Amino acid sequence: MSERTKTDLRNFDQAGLVKFVESLGQPAFRGKQIMGWLYRPGISGFSEMTDLAKDFRRVLCEHACISEFLDPIVEKASDGCVKFGFTLDDGHIIESVLIPEPDRNTLCISSQVGCAMGCSFCLTGTMGFIRNLNPSEIVNQVCGVRDYLLATPKDQLIGPERVTNVVFMGMGEPLNNLENVLTSLSIMTEQKGLDLAARKITVSTCGIASKIKELGERSTVNLAISLHSVKNSVRSQIMPVNNRYPVEVLLETCKNFPMPKRKRIMFEYTLLAGINDSDEDAEMVARMLRGIPCKINLLGYNECPSLPYKSPDRGRLLAFQKILIDHHYTVFIRNSRGADISAACGQLATEQNLTAPG
Ligand code: SF4
Repeated sequence: MSERTKTDLRNFDQAGLVKFVESLGQPAFRGKQIMGWLYRPGISGFSEMTDLAKDFRRVLCEHACISEFLDPIVEKASDGCVKFGFTLDDGHIIESVLIPEPDRNTLCISSQVGCAMGCSFCLTGTMGFIRNLNPSEIVNQVCGVRDYLLATPKDQLIGPERVTNVVFMGMGEPLNNLENVLTSLSIMTEQKGLDLAARKITVSTCGIASKIKELGERSTVNLAISLHSVKNSVRSQIMPVNNRYPVEVLLETCKNFPMPKRKRIMFEYTLLAGINDSDEDAEMVARMLRGIPCKINLLGYNECPSLPYKSPDRGRLLAFQKILIDHHYTVFIRNSRGADISAACGQLATEQNLTAPG
């Protein structure tokens, strides 16, 4: 069997590995044993899995492989953010961004190559949809950055030596690739996998209401909504998804989102000068979000030369924030980081993919 036709074991969570080994005539516990090895740093082959019988390791070598992202393109921003370009088997490049802070390392990962949702302020949206990432391509972003952190001298690190938080806010709409995202979440949260707490993982969506419900039923990770306006006329103009799931439908879905292990929904609101940043917009947000346990992140737009939007000045951001705070919301102004290497929100789109999709 050639390497290309072998089964990549990093596409399976533990339940999937059990099924795979059973298909090879092996007992279920072998699947759990493999899970215990697959995500250890430095593991690249079956010969290192010393508690597996030699015969079984031979069978695995014949039928299976373990993918990994090697030699990423690494760009460091002046504020400490690091953008990683990972090359996929078919030549496309996906991007992930590490946002280090003294007590945490947040990794923003991609779930698709390109995106079909066409939000008009987003550079990834201009690429169009190319393809979904499979589970291994999602989790290998975390493994690749973990390996980078482990190889970096401690005195050069801003944050801890490991990835502590993961946000699905890179390229793509995660809920359009829900099955693969759910498998990757299972791998990330399994103790023998990447051992991250579900409360440290956030899946962000532009508002695909039907899938939000499913995410809530099938995982306990945090939910973030890219809101950007609560006026249907404006939201539909900048986010075509709003034509399918208007603001009222989206917010009703949020009200019904199961919350026991998640404290609050995060609403992301990027202010676009003259479009969605007036006092009236802020008052309307305050009115429409009433009754939803939430936090609100405000962000000034990262201007891109190829897109027509402008960022409001700091005073406008602060005025918008004050109105929401006066209505008793928890509101943060998020300083966009990594802007000098095009790693900030909405800026992830590789030149290669922009010019040569498919
Ligand atoms: Fe896709 Fe998100 Fe960009 Fe919208 S903002 S086009 S959903 S990547």
